[in-house]
Amino acid sequence: MLKVGHVVVRPGRKAGMDSVEIPIPEELETVPGIPMVSKDIDFYSREYPLLRQQVEHGADTEWAPSVGTPAMQAYHHEHQATMEEFYPLMNRTGDLQPTGTASGDDVTQLIRDKSVEMGFLDIGFTNHDLRFVYQDRKDHVKYPNAICIALEQDFAETQTAPSMAAEHGHYGTYEIQAPMGLRMVDYILSLGYHAQLHGPSNHSAATIPMFVAAGLGQLGANGQLLTPHAGARCRLQIITTDAPVIFDKPEDYGFHAFCQVCQVCVNRCPGRALMREKIWWRGVEKNKLIYKRCRPVMSRYEGCAICMKVCPINKYGAKAVMEYYIETGQVLGKGTHDLEGFTLHDESTGRYTTGYFGPGELPTFDADFFKIPVGTRENAALDVLLDHIDNKNDGLDKEADEKALFNFRDRLRKIRGGEVSDSTMF
Ligand code: SF4
Ligand code: SF4
Repeated sequence: MLKVGHVVVRPGRKAGMDSVEIPIPEELETVPGIPMVSKDIDFYSREYPLLRQQVEHGADTEWAPSVGTPAMQAYHHEHQATMEEFYPLMNRTGDLQPTGTASGDDVTQLIRDKSVEMGFLDIGFTNHDLRFVYQDRKDHVKYPNAICIALEQDFAETQTAPSMAAEHGHYGTYEIQAPMGLRMVDYILSLGYHAQLHGPSNHSAATIPMFVAAGLGQLGANGQLLTPHAGARCRLQIITTDAPVIFDKPEDYGFHAFCQVCQVCVNRCPGRALMREKIWWRGVEKNKLIYKRCRPVMSRYEGCAICMKVCPINKYGAKAVMEYYIETGQVLGKGTHDLEGFTLHDESTGRYTTGYFGPGELPTFDADFFKIPVGTRENAALDVLLDHIDNKNDGLDKEADEKALFNFRDRLRKIRGGEVSDSTMF
């Protein structure tokens, strides 16, 4: 039996449920939130501002839908059509004027109660840390306080990942939370304060640091926010506001150290995209996900999400996982087919592996599998031109040379003249 270091108390996951006491073993205690060096975060945000995925990885955002199965492509277009309705509404929320009269009193509990009534999984309050705002959203973001709200994604659907059902769980949650977020904005306006909605998809900042600061979880080795009730199986939104609220504090749920013992997601990732050891990255100590090894897998295999599915915190909740660890020193479910097993279904080319993989079994892929367009959309356009110069520029076909050059110019014109998508999918 391990010694308990401290106990974290969280509200129940739904209205009317008792609060939950999570014992944290002393040997897993590190720091509340995440180890960080604030001056390094300052430096990176100033000299190397964060870019939205759609910008930094614009090339593969354009490419990814082309390798999805027909069912994935059809569903993603359907989802995109649904979200197109919400993006303009969400993007306009910062300009909406309050509809009620501000009392000047602290409204934290009113907003907390409203979120429970609406069915959000959890809510927390913190300073909207501008260091995590994306470069091209800096002029968009208004109001100093961040209300962090998480909505749970369906458990049963997620347990089938990778699958179309899990994709429906993932994107279906976005389709529910977009209008929920808008209703929460309306509520805050009715209290007499401004409220600007960010997400799902059209986020203005990296969300996880602010959720961690608000005490809603800690960063997992899978690169996702681990919440105590549902692990990474929830979707995140932030509402920035000038409403007077009291900030929460980061918590130590023991996850920072537990991930180094657990390592289930690291072991089960088909792309070998998750790092076993932590490194310091942009001022934070974390297990850094290797994007270029993840993206080809999730694009081809129904969103993948195996790292979410196999996480014991997602499957059993932090209370059960920590109690089991205190009692046995072991990771609940580790090594079992129930937790670690997954099935890869058909992918669009038919070239790559499918089937069931139990504990200790992983698929392998050739080098071509990981070759994807890299960088921004401008980078991708330049790569096409360079490919022509390197491989076809023998000086004999002037027409083909000109066509390659004009295609490059036209593509750049389109990119420079167009807007960045609100979706991370198209
Ligand atoms: S989504 Fe799949 S490939 Fe990407 S990190 Fe998770 S398990 Fe690995
Ligand atoms: S599977 Fe284990 S190592 Fe990975 S995020 Fe979950 S708790 Fe951490």
